[in-house]
Amino acid sequence: MKTLLNCPSIIHDPPHVLEDIIHGHPMPPKHFRLDVDHDGIAWITFDSPKSSANVWNEETLREFNHLLETIEHDTRVKALVLRSAKERIFIAGADIKAIRSMQHVRVNDLIWLGQAVFDRLARLRIPKVAAINGACMGGGFEVTLSCDWRIASDHESTKIGLPETQLGILPAWGGSTRLSRLVGVSKALDLITTGKLLNASAAKHSGLVSHVVAAERLDALARRLVRQKRPGLRFRFENLFSSIIGRMAKRKVLEKTRGLYPSILKAVEVVTHAVHGDIDKGLRLERNAVAELIKGRDSARLIDLFFKREEANKRPASGGTALPIHDATVIGAGVMGAGIAHILASRGIRVLMTDVTNDSLARGLERIHGLVSDATRRRLVSKVQGRDTLDRISTTHVPVPMNRHHLVIEAATESMELKKKIFADLAARVSADTILATNTSALSVSDLAKTVPHPERVIGVHFFNPVHRMPLVEIITLPETAPDVLATAVSFVQKIGKTPVVVKDSPGFLVNRILVPYLMEAVRLHESGIPLKDIDDAMLEFGMPMGPMRLLDEIGLDVAAHVAKTLAAAFPDRFPRTDALDKMVSAGHLGKKTGQGFYHYDEKGREIVPATHSDLPRHESIQTNLALLISQEAMRCLKEGIARSADDIDLAMVLGTGYPPFRGGPITFARDTGIIDY
Ligand code: NAD
Repeated sequence: MKTLLNCPSIIHDPPHVLEDIIHGHPMPPKHFRLDVDHDGIAWITFDSPKSSANVWNEETLREFNHLLETIEHDTRVKALVLRSAKERIFIAGADIKAIRSMQHVRVNDLIWLGQAVFDRLARLRIPKVAAINGACMGGGFEVTLSCDWRIASDHESTKIGLPETQLGILPAWGGSTRLSRLVGVSKALDLITTGKLLNASAAKHSGLVSHVVAAERLDALARRLVRQKRPGLRFRFENLFSSIIGRMAKRKVLEKTRGLYPSILKAVEVVTHAVHGDIDKGLRLERNAVAELIKGRDSARLIDLFFKREEANKRPASGGTALPIHDATVIGAGVMGAGIAHILASRGIRVLMTDVTNDSLARGLERIHGLVSDATRRRLVSKVQGRDTLDRISTTHVPVPMNRHHLVIEAATESMELKKKIFADLAARVSADTILATNTSALSVSDLAKTVPHPERVIGVHFFNPVHRMPLVEIITLPETAPDVLATAVSFVQKIGKTPVVVKDSPGFLVNRILVPYLMEAVRLHESGIPLKDIDDAMLEFGMPMGPMRLLDEIGLDVAAHVAKTLAAAFPDRFPRTDALDKMVSAGHLGKKTGQGFYHYDEKGREIVPATHSDLPRHESIQTNLALLISQEAMRCLKEGIARSADDIDLAMVLGTGYPPFRGGPITFARDTGIIDY
């Protein structure tokens, strides 16, 4: 019998356990259907029972392998089409939950198995089409690289990519080897090192798929394609220069990550070497790289974080019933109001945006137009989707009845007096069950709730700037918040594609409270004579996306001083004291927006006088000092019950501030390093 292991392509010395899996008794498949039609097309439909997703694990790989074996022996079969029966998922990738619980040696076996099965598919000498509708990620995309054609539906759920490096590993089921042969080393490196997911149109533009059609037309297109000559791979001239491209990519990665993400560097190495020689050599490089990467702790922490986020994205708030939100009012058309209106409308919610004058509304709409055209230009959305987003937004600067809207989000200027007035006025115009939400960054939500007859309908939904990029939304609850209001707010935030973290109303809420002592200590260190750049470089080396001094310039020193004062008043003896910010604000130096803050900027926001740094070897002590402050405040928030769990705090800091994900979050960092008692 012809089996996987005696296929000529299979790499030498596969592990023993693999033999058991591959030679194990073939059972009727649970996860797939195989239908051979009268034209000799074998339709393999992936449809895992009792699950909305299809994933690769030992069981599904083994079943798929047996189907391939059946096809190899069935002389009726002239072509193969791989498709999914799920509504929004083609194949979501490897079963990460299973991988997380596996010992290293079993992970290595699983890599062997996936490589062997996908290689078997590649070697089938019949035309093969992958008909992609829905999420096609990681191993889900790698299997399609063994097919002759990849075609995709234009449905919004279709997302294609190889996000493995984001989990501290790399594509090792042939993805790192085969993608560069398909689209060239540069595009393969871009996709693999960023881990980004492309919609169907961007995937076609990059050459990942050959055709994009409506989901209902995928089968007909597949049927037409298998009658054509198999396309074969185009010669990629650039692949001859893979080592130069690899060196440039490595430099870029080092600049961006300072070498803190070994999986990305490893991916550059594997992709650039695997493009030459035979496929088996590439697969061996992939296996060796993953075996090395999974030994480190980074990958385990990144995978943990992935699950924390998955859970926060799906978990409903307990105790209440979530109402679906189809329309909302946003008060204020400034930076945040326009950003919120845009994101809501892009997710199918009809928005009424209000402000005090037509001019402010016009500026807000202009901002939204800019966001939409940027997204269209970058192929993140189609022109039709962009137009639909704009069509869902209406505006008014005069008071209108709002009793039909279930949700109002107030994002007007940060002033308690103004917000109280807006809330009191809203209370007269909305219905008794409208949810009144505020986007305040530092004011007391409880104080605002006192101004309305139904404080149980008031909640904080704190978006971060820029709204379209920042994935976190803090949901601020009061003791009197109605369970249905909380449940609706959580499910609404999930629906618009953001990650909700529920926190108590307390000065600075969660993220700002943890961030402020860190920023103030950085200012104090600078005041004590440490050059700006030393401080910023130290924290960049720790893995923060931006140093604290530069972050202060970006936030605006007036805003930072205001938040710091609120927190210092609330927690008098705890926060590092400095009046440096006040002095700079009085001198009109407000940061990037005025051209002068800690750094100096030209009118385009570029730094003009490069800041100097000392050569003193003190990065480590600055890092320890500042990282300790972040973890200490995070622990206090946990003890005071500001957030519901350590996981929520870790997640909020990673998503809200870019705290280095490979460190797992400030509480995981404290626990792993022992810098404070956990
Ligand atoms: P902004 O100054 O850009 O916009 C505020 C808008 O509110 C202006 O267009 C103003 O005309 C409008 N406004 C004032 N009074 C109004 C009223 N009575 N009715 C309707 N609109 C009115 O401010 P922003 O940065 O968008 O901040 C808005 C809110 O979001 C504030 O509470 C702020 O603390 C919070 N926030 C800001 C950020 C940030 O980084 N900018 C981040 C998170 C939260």
